Parts: sequence; C-alpha cells; structure tokens
Amino acid sequence: REEKSLALLLMDIDRFKEINDTLGHHRGDLLLRQIGLRLKDSLHEHDVIARLGGDEFAVLLPLAESQHATRMAGKIMKALEPPFEIEGLPILLEVSIGIAVSPDHGSTPESLLQRADIAMYAIKQTGGYNIYNAKHDQYSPIRLALLGELRHAIEHDELVLNYQPMISVKTGRAIGMEALVRWKHPGRGMVPPDQFIGPAERTGLIKPLTLWVFNTAQRQCLDWHGAGLGIPVSINLSARNLHDPLLPDQLAELMAACGGAPDRLELEITESAIMADPVRALDAINRLRAMGIRFAIDDFGVGYSSLAYLQRLPVDSIKIDKSFVINMAQNQNDAVIVRSTIDLVHNLGLKVVAEGVENKDLWDRLSALGCDTAQGYYMSRPMPAEELTRWLTESPWGIKKDPNPPN
Ligand code: C2E
Ligand code: CA
Ligand code: CA
Repeated sequence: REEKSLALLLMDIDRFKEINDTLGHHRGDLLLRQIGLRLKDSLHEHDVIARLGGDEFAVLLPLAESQHATRMAGKIMKALEPPFEIEGLPILLEVSIGIAVSPDHGSTPESLLQRADIAMYAIKQTGGYNIYNAKHDQYSPIRLALLGELRHAIEHDELVLNYQPMISVKTGRAIGMEALVRWKHPGRGMVPPDQFIGPAERTGLIKPLTLWVFNTAQRQCLDWHGAGLGIPVSINLSARNLHDPLLPDQLAELMAACGGAPDRLELEITESAIMADPVRALDAINRLRAMGIRFAIDDFGVGYSSLAYLQRLPVDSIKIDKSFVINMAQNQNDAVIVRSTIDLVHNLGLKVVAEGVENKDLWDRLSALGCDTAQGYYMSRPMPAEELTRWLTESPWGIKKDPNPPN
C-alpha cells in the first residue's frame, strides 16, 4: 500500500503429517484453526496472514527495518510454543519459518514465495527461522517455480531411471532390480529424487511421473528378458498413487500395450502411504495383486511399524529401512530391530529385504540372521540400464545368462 519494502514469512509445521495420521484429519483441522488464532494474536491488524494449503501458513509484513522480520518470526515461534490442546490431548509443535524480503530477494509475489520457500527448506532439519540467502539455492530442492519444468521433463523424456540390484543372500546372485528415478535437468545436471518427488506428490504431478517410471521400467525389463537376463523390476509408488482409484487400470493398460507380464513386477509402498487411507490403499493393493503384481513394504521401521497391522497387509515382502541396517554394527538397538523384524516377517510367511548393505560385515551379519535379500552399495550402486546390462553378465553378483532366451 505504501510502496515500502515487505517481508514474506512462510511457515511450515514440522511433522504435521504425523500428527494428522495419528490423530485423524478432524483433529488435524482443529489444530490448524488454533494455530491460525495464535498467529492472529501475535501479529498486528494490518499484517496479512494466509493459509497457503496443508500445513503451510504465510505472513506478509510491512517492513520498517530489516530486523523487524526476524523479530516477528521469533515472536511467532514463541506464540506457538505453549502446548496446544486438542480434545484434551496436549500437542507440542515445532515450526520452520523461511523469510524473504522485497526488493532484495525478489520483487514479484512468485519470486518472494519461492525464496521464502527455499529459506524455509534450508532450516527444515533443525527448525527455527531463516532469512533467504543465495547460497541456499544450490541445496534447495526443486520447488514452486520449477514444478512447471518438471511437468515438461515428464512429457519430454528428461527423466532417467537407474536400477539397483537386489541380491539373494543365499545364492549371492541378483534376483531383482529397483528402478530409481533421476531428473536430467538441462541447467542443473542430475537431480536426485529426494528433491522432486516430494513436490511432485504435493502437486499431483506424481501421477504422470509414476506412469512414466512404470512404463519405462517395464519395457527395460522386457528388453533384459529378451536378452536372457530374466529379472523382475520393482517400482516405487507414492501415497497419492495408491489412493488413486484409476491406477490399477492404468497400470494394466500399460502392461497390455507392451506385452509386459505382472509376475516380473513388484510395487514398493510405505506403511504410511497405506495408513493415510487404509480403505482405498487396500482396495488398490488387492486389485493389483489380483492381476499378479507383487507388493513390498518399503522403509519398514520408520513411521508406523504397526506390527499388528502388518499381519493383515496383503504383501509379499518387507524392506527394512537402510537407517537400521547401516547402523546395526554400531548400535545395539538397531541390531535388535533388524533381527526381530527378520524373525517376525518370517513368522508371517513373508520375505525380508535389507536395504543399505554398505559393506561385507553387514552382508555377513544379515546372512547369519537369515535375511533373504540384500540391497546396497557393497554389491552395487544404482546404475543406468546399459551399465547394468554389463554388470548383470560380468559381475560375480550378476546372473548366469540363460543359454536359451525366450523370443
Ligand atoms: P528408497 O525407495 O528407499 O530407495 C533406496 C535409496 O537408497 C536410493 O536412493 C538408493 O540409491 C539408496 N541406497 C541404496 N543402497 C544404499 C546404501 O548401501 N547406502 C545408502 N546410504 N544408500 C543406499 P535414491 O535413488 O536417491 O532414492 C531416494 C528415494 O527417492 C527412494 O528411496 C524413493 O523413496 C524415492 N524414489 C526414487 N525413485 C522413485 C520413483 O520412481 N517414484 C517414487 N514415488 N519415489 C521414488
Ligand atoms: Ca524403494
Ligand atoms: Ca527404501
């Protein structure tokens, strides 16, 4: 209004998803309302407060002096510090606040939002507030502004798949491959999935992305089969995919289009993806399993670990999260978790895969515990398809080539 400078504060509630998943969406909504009230109370009347969606709030402040923005961020954090009470339950919140100031960091709404978003992301690990700094850019994930480019990338084959072998602990040979997506960005080079899967999930772009991954991996798998390298591929699904009622038919269509076989495919899903909407998730899983596709629970051990539920899940294997495996040699608790997960999963009649097998010691330990399958840098990093074709035939972990490949 006064053509003065402005500060944009972008606030994200840490682990809100967990709160929502645990307490239910209704209580999540109640909490958001209370947060809104506290924000209002801690700001001036002419400050603009908005909820941008989900657990993201934004505040727009007229800026008299540069310290004002950080002072207000501190004030907001203080206001959110006392526990909230939702239906008698005390809840402690932690938030991350990113700050961008006009005109220094941008002079359009989009650029300010993007910069505040980057500043917020940079502080996400520790919580607290943070003013935008150009040095954050290189570490920042592909967020708001680049999502348009991601759509383009999916449509124009800028994505590539790497494959990481999964090795049978008993035979020491590859028995599967996990397809892992990367973005070959024309300006930024190879972008790892951690930087764009999250934003793709939030915007729904994960749907075309997953269909692209599924189609590409499946065709690659067919090529390998044709070359006598018969090995199934595993594909990661996001929660959004699992809750999409169209997914089973879309996957069936893609398979039919290239003559792919469901028994050469496995889908990896996380527990939290199932728990976010168990009814819809189970419906999708059951439909896909009826087609002959196998399922694995990914990242097992982080998040829910509702052992009671595990028993009822229609899946074929469990992948123990790499954080437990990597630390099992140093940390007794992690070792116990790995050992008891293996026993439990075997008792349920399912297979166990250990991720993050980084050295021979871990391999030996897992072998002694009776783990079925191992995946990790010790045997192989994820590789582009052509490299993997060579690896499969030349590595001692590879597969013995079928002398009579199918046509
Ligand atoms: P994830 O499904 O748990 O995949 C395994 C990740 O662990 C991969 O990282 C892989 O490179 C890494 N890894 C493998 N062996 C080791 C090891 O021995 N030590 C350590 N420290 N790490 C190891 P990447 O490729 O960066 O993928 C990260 C995550 O991105 C994946 O975690 C998955 O959640 C997601 N992702 C990747 N591709 C897709 C996709 O096509 N769709 C979806 N929805 N998510 C994907
Ligand atoms: Ca996975
Ligand atoms: Ca995993």
